[in-house]
Amino acid sequence: MPIPQSMAWALKKILSTRDIFEKGNRLQEFIVGEKFSIRKCYNQLNGDVNPVSWKRLICNNKASPKSIFITWLAVLNRLTTKVRLVSWQMLNDPSCPICQQENEDVLHLFIKCNYSATIWQKCLQILKCPRPIVSFMSEVNIAAEQCRRRHKKSQVYGMVFTDAVYQLWMQRNQKVFENKLVSPDQVVDNIIFNVACRCLRI
Ligand SMILES: [Zn+2]
Repeated sequence: MPIPQSMAWALKKILSTRDIFEKGNRLQEFIVGEKFSIRKCYNQLNGDVNPVSWKRLICNNKASPKSIFITWLAVLNRLTTKVRLVSWQMLNDPSCPICQQENEDVLHLFIKCNYSATIWQKCLQILKCPRPIVSFMSEVNIAAEQCRRRHKKSQVYGMVFTDAVYQLWMQRNQKVFENKLVSPDQVVDNIIFNVACRCLRI
C-alpha cells in the first residue's frame, strides 16, 4: 500500500522500513537458528553508532520516567533555559531567576547557582560521598558510571542525581511562573522521598 501523507509519523516510519527488508530479501540475514532475532535486526538497522558516555544514566536508571526525561533534555542542552530563550529572541533578560547573579544556562542552573550547589552538597553528604562539585557534564558522567554498577548504593546515587536535576528544573519553573521557591532543605527532602518511593524496584 502507498504510505498516506496524513498517517501518524510513527506509522509512516514503520511502513517505510519495508524497503529495507524487500531489497535482496534481507529478512533472512536476521534469522538465528530458526528464529527471527530482533536484537540482530535492531543492531544492523541502527548502523555503527558510538554510544554516548551517559547512556547508562538514561537506560540503567530506576528513577521516575519524568525525571529521566528532564535529565536527558538537560544533558542534550535542550531545556528552555533563559540563555536559549534570549538566543531565540523570545526574552531580553538571560539572568538566573533564582539568584539573578549570572546568566541562566544548564551549567549555572544545575551546578553553579548557590541554590543548586547547596542542594548538591546536601545530596552528596546523604550519599556519604562529600566532595567538591565539578562541571555539569562531569557530574553526569560520574552518575552514569555509578548507574553501570549493580551495587544498590550506586543505583541510589544515579536515582538521586536524576531526581535532583528534575527537582531543580521544577523549582526554577515555579520561581519563573509563580515567583515561589522552597528552601534547599525542602528540595532535598522531596528528592529523598521520591527516591525512597522507587527503591523497592532495585
Ligand atoms: Zn542562579
